[in-house]
Amino acid sequence: MPTRMARIVVPMVVLAALACTCVVRAAEVDAAGSGGKMFAIAIHGGAGTLSRSDMSAEQEANYRAGLEAALAAGYSQLARGGASLDAVVAAVRVLEDNPLFNAGRGAVLNRDGVAELDASLMDGRTLAAGAVTGLQHVKNPIDLARLVMEKSPHVMLVGAGAEEFAKSLGVEMVPNEYFRTPARQNQLERSLRGAVSRENELEAFGTVGAVALDLAGNLAAATSTGGMTGKRWGRVGDSPIIGAGTYANNESCAVSATGHGEYFIRTVVAHDICAQVEYLKIPLAKAVDNVLNGKMKKLGGNGGVIAIDRAGEIVLEFNSEGMFRGVKTSKGLHEVAIYR
Ligand code: ASP
Repeated sequence: MPTRMARIVVPMVVLAALACTCVVRAAEVDAAGSGGKMFAIAIHGGAGTLSRSDMSAEQEANYRAGLEAALAAGYSQLARGGASLDAVVAAVRVLEDNPLFNAGRGAVLNRDGVAELDASLMDGRTLAAGAVTGLQHVKNPIDLARLVMEKSPHVMLVGAGAEEFAKSLGVEMVPNEYFRTPARQNQLERSLRGAVSRENELEAFGTVGAVALDLAGNLAAATSTGGMTGKRWGRVGDSPIIGAGTYANNESCAVSATGHGEYFIRTVVAHDICAQVEYLKIPLAKAVDNVLNGKMKKLGGNGGVIAIDRAGEIVLEFNSEGMFRGVKTSKGLHEVAIYR
């Protein structure tokens, strides 16, 4: 199995030989299964400075297992003919429940030691969207984002109001301690002491996200996060902002982002990638490169995105050292990777 994904567009048959790609044209591979149509899911578990020496073999195996479990949850929805929206929610929920990732349980802590969670999702078929920010007690923020989309007349609900909405629908609530892990507590303490630069911290990032294409040709995207360690004053990043951290439109693509949120908001990353695909008619990989390595990098922003278009082209790109990521398609591509 390939262990490395680089930044070139290659047909998947070549991919096997090269053992690397960050951009896969899964649709080109002629494999049995879905009668010409295909389905696919890609996930991320955050991007940042992930130097190999900072991670033990055991830790790496645990991260990989977490990514595999999320891929399996999303893929099984697609394989039984389910909607891309169900697939991205299923994958993100698994990552929210995994304490290794910065979403749900194991989320980073704000300056007061409290987990404050953000999530959003978008349906590329209808352009319906849902988002929640500043949650402190909702076990799976991505589920609440979906309920905002489906059961409220709104797109985004914040903090106490969002939790009141959750309670009215019987959503599972937990004490804030549920989210807090010793590793995150430690990370916050070191960060407050100024012992580590946030950008160099292995666990500083770790936001999770998923994008998918289903058999009906519909795209969806979802993202969930605890934000950034030591955040203050009700800070909200890009993850729950439709157009910045999450976007999906059947006319172009689906994108989920991870990285230093302020930069992703300022360059409206997810929507800009989709807009470039739609209006400029350029390949997805080019649009991702323009935005991530062009516009955003110029401002000094670090991070990555996962993106998929209707033709099944998948891009997993980052301008940081690493990004936890994985992809699984009905055409036989199945891979998880961390480093370049
Ligand atoms: N983008 C997230 C935020 O700024 C953090 C991350 O992706 O790690 O809240």
